[in-house]
Amino acid sequence: METKNIWSKYSATELKKLEALSGEYIDFLNNGKTERECVDSIVNMIENAGYVELQKAIKTGRKLKAGDKIYAVNMNKSVVMFHIGKKLFNDGMNILGAHIDSPRLDVKQNPLYEDSEIAYLDTHYYGGVKKYQWVTIPLSLHGVIVKKDGNTVEINIGDDEDDPVFFISDLLIHLSSEQLEKKASKVIEGEALDIIVGNRPLVIKNTASSKSRANSDKKDEKDKVKSNILAILKEKYDIEEEDFLSAELEVVPAGKAREAGFDRSMILAYGQDDRVCAFPTVKAMLEIKSVERTACALLVDKEEIGSVGATGMRSRFFENILAEVMNLAGSYSDIALRRCLTASCMLSSDVSAGFDPTYASSFEKKNTAYLGHGIVFNKFTGSRGKSGSNDANAEYIAHIRDIYARDDVSFQTCELGKVDLGGGGTIAYILALYGMNVIDAGVAVLNMHAPYEATSKADIYETFRGYISFLKNAKM
Ligand code: MN
Ligand code: MN
Repeated sequence: METKNIWSKYSATELKKLEALSGEYIDFLNNGKTERECVDSIVNMIENAGYVELQKAIKTGRKLKAGDKIYAVNMNKSVVMFHIGKKLFNDGMNILGAHIDSPRLDVKQNPLYEDSEIAYLDTHYYGGVKKYQWVTIPLSLHGVIVKKDGNTVEINIGDDEDDPVFFISDLLIHLSSEQLEKKASKVIEGEALDIIVGNRPLVIKNTASSKSRANSDKKDEKDKVKSNILAILKEKYDIEEEDFLSAELEVVPAGKAREAGFDRSMILAYGQDDRVCAFPTVKAMLEIKSVERTACALLVDKEEIGSVGATGMRSRFFENILAEVMNLAGSYSDIALRRCLTASCMLSSDVSAGFDPTYASSFEKKNTAYLGHGIVFNKFTGSRGKSGSNDANAEYIAHIRDIYARDDVSFQTCELGKVDLGGGGTIAYILALYGMNVIDAGVAVLNMHAPYEATSKADIYETFRGYISFLKNAKM
């Protein structure tokens, strides 16, 4: 069974919509390089569309009814949205879930040091990265530094045209005969991924006598480049070295998302896993006007490291917020909450590996996703004999086939590469714990988890169409 390239199926009007969506998506990527920045962008988008923050609704004692739109933010790193349907919560919801964290390098808690007059920030990578891909490219620094007094300093350096950037060095080719003999996993090791942040020593203007100046020079001789960095941080952000202790600083590739190819058919950008699903998820939620079943979107953090912690999908946040929302709609009880979750349908929206002809031997061609062939379904994920996977029921897949046939949504099914080669997981299995129907659905990506990942504009548009169709029609 072969799937077709979908570019030719669109009318001129639809192609215009496709390009408009791609343009907005590029802006979304440029404004959201971290989960916190994505939350800011999403909240702006949905508040403009009439979504109301849950705590506000609770404070004003608002009664929720069909058509109401409500959202909650968890620790500035994840968002849950609800568009209440005509049936409220009685026969389940249609849920889209995507993640907004991406692989990157995190700055350590005690990061700043100087070696041979070069100042560095020490990092620890987050998520699955091929470490050798991160050297010698311009990097930017995004995140927050929270001071003891509770004030938050937002950091965003390296993505504005006038900003400086940071980088990680690599050994020159002329001296690399030993390095190039190493395995690719060892060519650049984790502790070699420290970013270079300065090379200019602090100059202290000293008006004291020449003798005491000589003494103080001796004392300060050590780490003058580091001292200069600290002086700059103090002046620009009013932070001390120890403020790094309570900071979350993420090192990501500097530069903007770009159209790719002579035909501008693709997008090349950092962080498309999984913002390429998160963005059409939010857009689909904003597109639906009225729904029978309540529509819900989950945009969560920490997927890349196992969905752990308070802001990952495994946290009770979603369940707790659902209880609050049902309560405001007058339909909360423990049994009603459980029934609602069990009766819900979910698309676990995450990226899939796109077939890469250069590495054809890693894929099995019949069960692979192709760029430009539409939204991708994975019946299961996992690795080594489906270990750790969700497995979507045949009955559920048949239901989605039926919906998509009626709405002319083009989809393809795939496995993540050849059996035995590896694999991966998503948030699907966590929602499946409630006994609801869940399937992995998303966009095919080339060079996933690399500093720059590639997607097809047609797939993004078709995924957006597929999410809308799902929110309107799914019902098991
Ligand atoms: Mn992902
Ligand atoms: Mn990933």
